[in-house]
Amino acid sequence: MPRAFITGITGQDGQHLAEFLHGKGYEVFGMVKGQNNPRMSQVVEEFPFVQPVPGDLADLPSLVKALEMAQPDEVYNLGAISFVALSFNQAELTANITGLGVLRMLEAIRMVGGHTNNPIRFYQASSSEMFGKVRETPQTELTPFHPRSPYGCAKVFGHDICVNYRESYDLFACSGILFNHEGPRRGLEFVTRKVTNAVARIKLGLQSEVVLGTLDTKRDWGYAGDYVEAMWLMLQQDRPDDYVIATGETHTIADLLDRAFAAVGIDDWHPYVRQDPKFMRPAEVDLLIGDATKARTQLGWTPKVDFDTLVTMMVEHDLQLEATKHGMPVPARS
Ligand code: GDP
Repeated sequence: MPRAFITGITGQDGQHLAEFLHGKGYEVFGMVKGQNNPRMSQVVEEFPFVQPVPGDLADLPSLVKALEMAQPDEVYNLGAISFVALSFNQAELTANITGLGVLRMLEAIRMVGGHTNNPIRFYQASSSEMFGKVRETPQTELTPFHPRSPYGCAKVFGHDICVNYRESYDLFACSGILFNHEGPRRGLEFVTRKVTNAVARIKLGLQSEVVLGTLDTKRDWGYAGDYVEAMWLMLQQDRPDDYVIATGETHTIADLLDRAFAAVGIDDWHPYVRQDPKFMRPAEVDLLIGDATKARTQLGWTPKVDFDTLVTMMVEHDLQLEATKHGMPVPARS
C-alpha cells in the first residue's frame, strides 16, 4: 500500500486529496498542529481512514519526527496561511508558515528520506497569486512572477525553493501552480463561498444582503475536486516538473453574483449586494487566467466541472446546509 503524508489536511484541498488517495488505495497520514485542534476531530469523523500525525510547519524537528512516523512515499504540502486578506495583517506569520514552511519540509525530506532507494516524492502547493500584477495573459509556467500580497510573496519563495532543492539535491519535487479552486468545502471567508452561502441564506429569508469589496476583479475558478487529481498525477511522472492547473476561463465577481443568484431564481442581485471598502485590499490582483496546456498534454489532466456547474453545486450545497441547520424545508430547484 503506498503511503501519503498531507499537510493542511483540515483544509478544503486536504480533504479532497485524502478522499482521492484513499480511493486509490493509499494509506493516508494527515499532519495536525496544536493541541486539541477542533478541525481535526471533524476530519477524523468524516474521514476515519486518515491517520493523524502531530507536527507544525514552524518546527523543523517536529516535521522530521512526523516523516519518521508516517514513512511516506509521497508528501503533499498543502498547509499554509492561505487567505490573501489575512496575509496583509499577519505578514510575518504568513512568510514563516507559507514560505519558510516549505524550506523546513524540504530539509526534513532530505534528512529522513530524500536519498534512499525509494526517495520521497514531494508536491508543493504553488499558487496563481504568484503572478499577481500579471505580465502576460494567459499565464503559463514561464510567466514571470509579480506577487501583490504577503501571501503571494511567501508562495513565490516556496515555489523557488522547491525548484532550487530539486536542482541542487536531485529531489523529486514538483510545484503545482493552481489557479483558484473552489467547492462546497471552501472556507466562508473566500469570495465564492461567501457569495453562495449568502445567496442560500437570502433565499431562505435568513439574511437580507451580502457585503463585498470589489466586483471587478477576474479569477479563473475551477473545482477543487478536479485539481487534487492533478497533484497526484504530477508525482506519478518519470521526472519532477512544475505545472499550471487552471480552466482557461475567467469571470468577474459580478459574473459570480449573476450565476449564484440565478441558481435560486433571482435575476437582479443589485438590491441584495452592498460594497464596503473594508473588503478591499491594499494591492489587488485584477486578472488571472491560466493556460494549462502543459498539464493537459503531459499529465493528461483536464478540468471536468465548469464555472456554472461549480457555482450551482455550491449554492445547492449551501441551501441544504442552511435549511437543515435552521430546521427549514429545502426550496425546490429553480
Ligand atoms: P484570492 O484570489 O485567493 O484572493 O481569493 P478570494 O476568494 O479571497 O478573492 C477573490 C477576489 O474577490 C479578490 O479580488 C477579492 O478582492 C475579491 N473580493 C471582493 N469582495 C470580497 C469579499 O468580500 N471577500 C473576499 N474574500 N474577496 C472579495
